[in-house]
Amino acid sequence: MEHHESFPKAINTVESLSLKPLNIFNSERRKFHNHEIYPKPNGIECPMCGNEMGDSDNITLTSIPPQRKIECLNKDCKHINYRIV
Ligand SMILES: [Zn+2]
Repeated sequence: MEHHESFPKAINTVESLSLKPLNIFNSERRKFHNHEIYPKPNGIECPMCGNEMGDSDNITLTSIPPQRKIECLNKDCKHINYRIV
């Protein structure tokens, strides 16, 4: 018995989605994060003086939920706190 039926092409293949290799993806993301300057303004109002606060660094604390250290961008205040990620 002859079989002319072919299997349909898989949808999730490298050919059909032009996927990005992990090492390329990671190096691009690393470059992006390396260009960030801290403290980075985050739109949060300081509870002490009302000025804008900023993320202090690029460290995410592995608490549940994860948090980031933030600081008031007003040099006369410098209030430190934590925000949920
Ligand atoms: Zn403040």
